[in-house]
Amino acid sequence: MSNLRTTAVKNISRNSISYEVNASEKVSTIFNENVFTLKTARHYLSDESYKSLQASTFGGKKIDRSMGSNIANGMKAWAEEKGVTHFTHWFQPLTGLSAEKHDSFFTLKGDGTPIQEFEGAALIQQEPDASSFPSGGLRATFEARGYTAWDPSSPAFIMEIGHGKTLCIPTIFVSYTGESLDTKTPLLKAIVALDKAAVDVCQYFDKNISKVNATLGWEQEYFIVDAGLATARPDLLLTGRTVFGHAPAKGQQLEDHYFGAIPERVYAFMRDFEQESYRLGIPLRTRHNEVAPAQFECAPIYEELNLAVDHNTLLMDIMTRVAKRHNLLVLLHEKPFAGINGSGKHNNWSMSTDTGVNLLAPGKTPKTNLMFLAFFVNTIKAVHDYAELIRASIASAGNDYRLGANEAPPAIISIFIGKYLTDVLNQVEKRVGGNFDETDEAMLKLDIHKSIPELMLDNTDRNRTSPFAFTGNKFEFRAVGSSANCAGPMTVLNTIMAETLKSFKKEVDAIIENGEKKEVAIMQVIQKYIVESKKILFEGDGYSDEWEKEAAKRGLPNIKTTPVSLDAYTSEKAKTLFKNNNIYNALELDARHEIMLEAYIKKVQIEARVMGDLTTTLIIPAALKYQNILIENIKGLKDAGLSSESYEIQLAILSKISEHIKAISTGVAFMIESRKKANEINSHREKAIAYCEDVKGKYFDEIRRHADKLELMIDDSIWPLPKYRELLFLR
Ligand code: ADP
Ligand code: MG
Repeated sequence: MSNLRTTAVKNISRNSISYEVNASEKVSTIFNENVFTLKTARHYLSDESYKSLQASTFGGKKIDRSMGSNIANGMKAWAEEKGVTHFTHWFQPLTGLSAEKHDSFFTLKGDGTPIQEFEGAALIQQEPDASSFPSGGLRATFEARGYTAWDPSSPAFIMEIGHGKTLCIPTIFVSYTGESLDTKTPLLKAIVALDKAAVDVCQYFDKNISKVNATLGWEQEYFIVDAGLATARPDLLLTGRTVFGHAPAKGQQLEDHYFGAIPERVYAFMRDFEQESYRLGIPLRTRHNEVAPAQFECAPIYEELNLAVDHNTLLMDIMTRVAKRHNLLVLLHEKPFAGINGSGKHNNWSMSTDTGVNLLAPGKTPKTNLMFLAFFVNTIKAVHDYAELIRASIASAGNDYRLGANEAPPAIISIFIGKYLTDVLNQVEKRVGGNFDETDEAMLKLDIHKSIPELMLDNTDRNRTSPFAFTGNKFEFRAVGSSANCAGPMTVLNTIMAETLKSFKKEVDAIIENGEKKEVAIMQVIQKYIVESKKILFEGDGYSDEWEKEAAKRGLPNIKTTPVSLDAYTSEKAKTLFKNNNIYNALELDARHEIMLEAYIKKVQIEARVMGDLTTTLIIPAALKYQNILIENIKGLKDAGLSSESYEIQLAILSKISEHIKAISTGVAFMIESRKKANEINSHREKAIAYCEDVKGKYFDEIRRHADKLELMIDDSIWPLPKYRELLFLR
């Protein structure tokens, strides 16, 4: 007997013929080869246009049209030397993915002469036909078309697909009335807000600081499966995860995959996508196996936030594309397989000054230590005050399968800072009445500097169960989902940090005005913030039931599902926050809220449909086939004159299978009913909740339980879906 699965399994060895990758090139020679860096630009631009590009890259200065034309010409000259024929504005609409619309350099003059041309206007602004991107009613409200506009802070690059080469211009995507329709615009605004607020606070410590850059180093987790096998798994292809599948006899219990040897096929794939990434200036640094079988991770050297976000978006594209050459499928979903670890994307975040100081690195002098402490405590306060928003920023249908499950950070937002810094904060907090004085040099020193080795030690063993952990010189936001665009969570984090720093400055200034010494005033507000936000600090096991109880006692929110957690975006508090920092107006927030709810509804809806289809057209028919085999067998035994004892087991299996079939069919029928009811609901929020609770909550696990039981009972040669053991153990 053969079906899609058995054929696919047979073909695995053919698929796995490893793809040749020329990996002998040194990374340093190919790095940035396909990027119009400032260094490259220097060779193609006049002094004047180079300076203008430089100013807009670092200083956010606007580029005028005439200068734009010079730069466009330089870019075109460079790109054409590399065989580029087309250009595109590359942007990140609210799908969280990237989008592009290619135009040729080729055009016809009025007299019909064919020429190659790239005008400044085409570099600076474009109008993609964007009517089919999610806009949450924004475009309808304003009757406005969207346009893309060049973001010079992220350099243009050349995307090679097959033999085609396209010049990609990173852009923002906004409506004509100014509402942002993408993820980059609010991110850039949040970066500006944080820069301003952080520089103001830095001024207490060092007058030379005039710019603060947020930095991000993401760690991308992903699964790899054989592409041929995946074609026999419609659920993987349509939803990115397996909606059925029994855990294999061997899963991750031996813990032998983590840092184990990388399978050769995967290794070839990694080297291939790494090469492409290096050419595009993505500074990948580490690659290793993750905890679960078939799970891997890669991470770059950290970069300025906006660039790091672009690079992650680009990397997810590259990985997906390159995998195809290797007959592999990359799964970026947060939870492709039940019962084994899911995937996250840790966002390592910090702030660095134009004087070269990492604001979250403990300093070497009392002064820099105090600066560290100020930024450190402000971060804690920000996350404490806006915990709901932080939670909302990582909410998605995929991440719901991961958060709060027994292997990922919980849906409760807490912060891990390690024993050493806990002691430091305790010391500061205990100082009676904010009574810091001159004798407090020692206090200001806090011996952090001397204890750096201890601090690092403390953090190498850091608590992996925390959603937000301090790891020596940066915070690691660990609850972000693997498929997420980092811009969402980073926009929130930078905005709440900006807001908190502004309040901090106000409070410190007020105390100074009352005649207090600057350092003392700063310490007093730090102390106040510690008292106000310490309930969010947690050093224990985030996965334990005790923590849930303890967190409830502390009054920390524990919002388990996406539809409800998204409320935080439209609260009065959020509206004020985003308005004050010029990130989103109320309308943009409502639009985004709606888009996120809609995305959630659609994802759950698709999963529900896939479950219905697979059970009806694959799983139940396979079960019936096996029942017929059993029936034939029983008949034969009977005909041979054997007693009923000889087919007792067969009868038992037969009836057990019937029970599962019945449970699945009724489950699916009820699930469809629930879906119909949910579809009649008008409010996006209520509809999403109905999908979450009445469709997914009531039926997904129940249907799956019976289907997975069948997988264990039915003849392996009939079972239609590639099994976990086949998908997860790549050779
Ligand atoms: P791990 O978390 O796996 O132990 P590391 O601590 O070495 O790994 O770093 C993880 C990520 O954190 C890397 O991408 C690294 O570049 C990034 N990182 C290190 N320092 C900073 C910083 N100051 N700002 C942002 N990211 C940083
Ligand atoms: Mg990490």
